[in-house]
Amino acid sequence: MKKIQMVDLKSQYEKIKTKVDASIQEVLDTTTYINGPKVHEFQKNLEQYLDVKHVIPCANGTDALQIAMMGLGLKPGDEVITADFTFAATVEVIALLQLTPVLVDVNLDDMNISLDAIKKAITPKTKAIVPVHLFGRAANMEAIMQIAKEHNLYVIEDNAQAIGANCTFSDGSKKKAGVIGHVSSTSFFPSKNLGCYGDGGAIFTNDDALAHTIRGIVNHGMYVRYHHDVVGVNSRLDSLQAAVLDAKLPLLNEYNSARRGAASKYNAALGNHKNIITPSFDENGDDHVFHQYTLRIIDADRDALMQHLLDKGIPCAIYYPIPLHSQKAYVDSRYKEEDFPVTNQLVKEVISLPMHTELEDDQIKFITDSVLEFLK
Ligand SMILES: *Cc1c(COP(=O)(O)O)cnc(C)c1O
Repeated sequence: MKKIQMVDLKSQYEKIKTKVDASIQEVLDTTTYINGPKVHEFQKNLEQYLDVKHVIPCANGTDALQIAMMGLGLKPGDEVITADFTFAATVEVIALLQLTPVLVDVNLDDMNISLDAIKKAITPKTKAIVPVHLFGRAANMEAIMQIAKEHNLYVIEDNAQAIGANCTFSDGSKKKAGVIGHVSSTSFFPSKNLGCYGDGGAIFTNDDALAHTIRGIVNHGMYVRYHHDVVGVNSRLDSLQAAVLDAKLPLLNEYNSARRGAASKYNAALGNHKNIITPSFDENGDDHVFHQYTLRIIDADRDALMQHLLDKGIPCAIYYPIPLHSQKAYVDSRYKEEDFPVTNQLVKEVISLPMHTELEDDQIKFITDSVLEFLK
């Protein structure tokens, strides 16, 4: 059996080496390292894949979120509602822009932001909602857009973990996660579902005026060369990273299917155990692209299970071990513990198993056998 990795980028690279190397070589041959044709090609190809009018590449997913919020013109003191159970980048940029983060609880079943909690948190100062499509599963965007419309709020999708996932609407139509809100962000960090070989990110929007504003913000607030109309940032996707991404984009659907296939096998082996709650998903659908495969362990020692797996050479991780409302940087006297029952429960129960595009059946069997051996 091949050594088990949390994310096996090496095996993936070996299969696509010819394509990726050729794409990188083109950049080297033309020395167009910054804003070269590869960046533009990738942008156009991603716009087509997502069916969105504007993709604006930038340096990473955290910048993408920050720039999206700057583009909307949010002002210090504006309240922005986001999930308590996510990676810190989401709340970090809200705080950095001196907006007021309002963390709210999530659902137990899909671990995405709770609609009831959003509704409860809305005040006259609320300006935006930031749903995170956590672990690769699209949040209920139809309902979130409805709440936003009723209260005249912006929706910024943090789509760092769910590129390629579909949201299904009640009329049966589908749209890609990341093209439904007013603006969205994604990350091309190497381990993400569409990862480059360094840092990268992008902003998506269907709003022409907002796209124009954001294109200036990513480039020092310049709309005409050396005329700085707004305070901007320097945030670019470099051409070498765009070359990698452009070579990998045609494989994204296949990669996401491979992740779903691995998740089905995990679910089949673990789904019936009394101490395990497996992620539920539509096996024929594409609402979940399994950035992470995350179990809940109930009435059993999750941390001892983790140690057991690590001892057997199986990487695993707790995403996320501490609720954001309990993090030193984000504590706020307005938060009450009883407002976060689900997040407080999830941080104790979750464990993420290896998930990537190259998982082999013997590896999955060894992992699931090891989990069951510990839980009996
Ligand atoms: C990875 C991630 C980010 C940040 O992306 P970077 O490219 O690492 O800056 C933001 N939000 C979520 C939910 C993420 O998983």
